[in-house]
Amino acid sequence: MVLDLTVLGCAGSHTGVGRMCSGYLIEAAGKRILLDAGNGSTGNLQREHRVRDLDAIVISHRHVDHCIDLIGCYYNLRFDPDHHGRMPLYAAAEVHELLTGLLSGDSPMSFDDVFEHHEVGHGDHIQIGEVSLTFARSLHPVPTVSTRIEVEGLTVVYSGDSAGGPDLVEIARGADLFLCEATWTGDAGDHPPDIHLTAMDAAKVANEAGVDRLVLTHIAGGTDRERVAAEASGVFEGFMEIADDLVRYRVEPRG
Ligand SMILES: [Zn+2]
Ligand SMILES: [Zn+2]
Repeated sequence: MVLDLTVLGCAGSHTGVGRMCSGYLIEAAGKRILLDAGNGSTGNLQREHRVRDLDAIVISHRHVDHCIDLIGCYYNLRFDPDHHGRMPLYAAAEVHELLTGLLSGDSPMSFDDVFEHHEVGHGDHIQIGEVSLTFARSLHPVPTVSTRIEVEGLTVVYSGDSAGGPDLVEIARGADLFLCEATWTGDAGDHPPDIHLTAMDAAKVANEAGVDRLVLTHIAGGTDRERVAAEASGVFEGFMEIADDLVRYRVEPRG
């Protein structure tokens, strides 16, 4: 068994040259799950897969850099003659409201004709074939979930956007790979509270959670990625990388 995570976009807040916003493809046990659908990320998805090939989509929160490509997925699925049924969509509170609002009056079909929407929140658990997903609340200005993905003892945890805190440490505990946002550099005190993590604070969360491997993501446009790496690696005790579009990370049984 292997669990693959492919980065389809990892830019914080807005796109850059060759950098799309948050989107991550999980592939394991014959299932394909898209985590977040930020600007441009589903273009990268379609380099290898059709939108209809997904088994489910999970959206961490309603900020557009995590969900706006769902509008493109809606039209893609609607106009795909070989797509049948509705795409399962598991989304934090307020995502459905935002997206249906964007489509209202614009289409004879509704968002719910294409997506089978389920709202998810703290403590919820879903099963997609052999892949299990557990959600925890994330500290962020709008309702946001962190997601723990497990299959046959392999674990990937995605922070979503998060300012950290005990719920993030708990859901990340013992992960083989922790995909954690590190939007900012420098000291947390130099940034507004309860929105995002700095590189050093992301590394502290990873240490506390005892994760094996840390991949930092959602680095803000214009931020010096080498500085992010230097600040986090000075704190994190394990193996650390900085996410990049189209990179695939493979999680396999240890030893
Ligand atoms: Zn974001
Ligand atoms: Zn956000």
